[in-house]
Amino acid sequence: MIEITWQYDPDAPARRAEPATAEEAFFSLQRGNRAFADLGRDGGHGRYVIPVAAEELGFGQVPGIAPLQTPSAALLGCADARVPLELVFSQSANDVFAVRVAGNVLDGASVGSIDFAVTNLPTLRAIAVVGHTGCGAARAAMDTYLDPASYVGLSANLPLRGIVDAVTPAVRAADMALRAHYGASVVDRPGFSDALLDASVVLNTAIAGDAVRRIFADHLHEGLGVAFGVYDLASRLVGLPNQHDEWRPGLSSPPGPDETAGFLEQVVTSVYIRRLLEI
Ligand SMILES: [Zn+2]
Repeated sequence: MIEITWQYDPDAPARRAEPATAEEAFFSLQRGNRAFADLGRDGGHGRYVIPVAAEELGFGQVPGIAPLQTPSAALLGCADARVPLELVFSQSANDVFAVRVAGNVLDGASVGSIDFAVTNLPTLRAIAVVGHTGCGAARAAMDTYLDPASYVGLSANLPLRGIVDAVTPAVRAADMALRAHYGASVVDRPGFSDALLDASVVLNTAIAGDAVRRIFADHLHEGLGVAFGVYDLASRLVGLPNQHDEWRPGLSSPPGPDETAGFLEQVVTSVYIRRLLEI
């Protein structure tokens, strides 16, 4: 049995240690994700208890008084039902300011939501963009990129087009990097579309992380940082593929514009992408 419990014990009220720095906040998220990922590894068994302060759930000592909003992290994730951000990071109520939109794309609403958290919630220590493998929004962008004629059918659907258009630059860059590294014949490999999809997801998430860092640059300091990571649906780890590990857990600082090409090279030559390509 696998059990994940939010626990309020009135005899031992949760005393949540608020992270004092961005580094501490990222560490808390990473530790929570490792705990979530580890559930079930022991032969399908595991239990994880997340202590909750009654006040965070609205059970304040004074009836009728709403709790203050005191998250330590703002997360921009995908709307995908398989990526519930609080569960993925083993967080409690009032820990995460969660913004979810298909493809974790930046638009007026998602950036405006993060802006609200940055300017109004002084407990905020971390902002993270969290993509995920097998993303349907990235797949829609990839499908129209690989079959441009299909874009005509999409063109009149303005809301969906906005999401596809936002992800397409990452798809194009990932495709070019795969062809540059493995040759044009890489497109004939059975796993090409899976590899292109997840390389696109990783790059799209990194680009969004870099954009968020630039948008909120004036607010960033030791007490508020920006990072990104990709949730691997198979391992349940938030991290990145690299040359040594299938999926290296952890949240990372987004690559800047001058580092993007090198970062993408690391992604397309990673253990994970090579496995998908069967190279
Ligand atoms: Zn998605």
